[in-house]
Amino acid sequence: MNLDVNTLLTLMLVNVFAMAVAVPVVMGWRVSSSARFVVGSAVMQALAWGSFLLALPVHDRAFSTLWIGLLGASFVLMWLAVRGWLGPRPGGPVLLVVCTLLPIGYGIGFGNYAFRVAWSNFGLGLLMGMVCLACAWPAPGANRRWRGLIIVCLGALAIVTFARGVLGGFYTELYPSLRTPHPVNVFGAALNHIALTLTTIGLLAGWHEEAERALRIQADTDGLTGLLNRRAWHERAGHMFALARRHSEPLAVLLLDIDHFKRINDHGGHEAGDRALQLVARVLMDTVRRGDIVCRYGGEEFCVLVTRGGVPAAQEVDRRLRRSLHEHPAFGPDIVLDFSSGLALLSGEDAGLEQVIRRADRALYDAKAAGRGCLVTAAGGA
Ligand code: GH3
Ligand code: MG
Ligand code: MG
Repeated sequence: MNLDVNTLLTLMLVNVFAMAVAVPVVMGWRVSSSARFVVGSAVMQALAWGSFLLALPVHDRAFSTLWIGLLGASFVLMWLAVRGWLGPRPGGPVLLVVCTLLPIGYGIGFGNYAFRVAWSNFGLGLLMGMVCLACAWPAPGANRRWRGLIIVCLGALAIVTFARGVLGGFYTELYPSLRTPHPVNVFGAALNHIALTLTTIGLLAGWHEEAERALRIQADTDGLTGLLNRRAWHERAGHMFALARRHSEPLAVLLLDIDHFKRINDHGGHEAGDRALQLVARVLMDTVRRGDIVCRYGGEEFCVLVTRGGVPAAQEVDRRLRRSLHEHPAFGPDIVLDFSSGLALLSGEDAGLEQVIRRADRALYDAKAAGRGCLVTAAGGA
């Protein structure tokens, strides 16, 4: 089989155009900023290779410069997508400088063949390397497979691109221009084709991971308050329960129920009730310590798993929350936001978290019976 470089370049052109259409169709435009960067990157690649096609018949210098500039921009957009998914990445300023200087230097030095080949290949190789670095930089919890795929593909492309730069810049007589039928060009075009396709697959997998994470957060969160919902709380609290049992550490469950909450709804309407719930959630989150797990347990009930410090720590949470709510402007005439609470501590006999919660619930019931606005600590517990 004879692979000629022009056929490969034409195929790649078809490929990048097909991807520039397929990627936005698959991802849509009403998506996260990272996903939009991926779409933008695919479009830039297509426009870049379109410019490459126009360079010889129309205006070599202008369209070749555009080709290089757009290729640079497409790698910058990839880098931005990866940063959106994985958090802060090193090298942002370097990227900005390289992608700005790349087309400027190329356009100015276009007349010098050796310079322009070296300049463009070093610049593009550097940008590809920066995308690899962004994927390789530690990102706890992020999937390694799609990052690895991008590192392998763009890494290989970066190495070949650098090699082209060295060859073109320093051994110019050996360097075959991109369109000439030379084995280096055949290999380069085939690699470009495969690497770009697989990199796009890697980016789509990154997007998939993002969507999955967003869905998981949505499934775990109470829509009104932003706190964990009861199911997610049970999952995490169960894990902490097992750890506390294993290491014989104190663990407490504090169950809160807002007093006379119906009055707030009756006076100010459901909206006022919702705002009161949001306020309690916010103040509660500010009150607990790191490591404590808070959720909206249901209606106007909240639950805190106090992971360290035992009863004194839980009592402190209760006290601080009560004080903060008392200081807050009332939600209506004669209405002070207050709550009753029940506290239970993990004991040696507890086989599961449910038993601790049950004791906290009974203590909460006692607090209501005792006149509300107070904390009752259940008997038992270590
Ligand atoms: P108690 O002091 O005995 O706890 O009285 P209460 O009025 O706080 O308790 P009760 O259980 O009788 O009523 C709770 C009310 O909370 C009833 C329900 O309409 C309201 N509620 C539950 N969820 C929401 C919500 O998401 N938003 C609003 N606005 N109200 C809610
Ligand atoms: Mg209730
Ligand atoms: Mg209530």
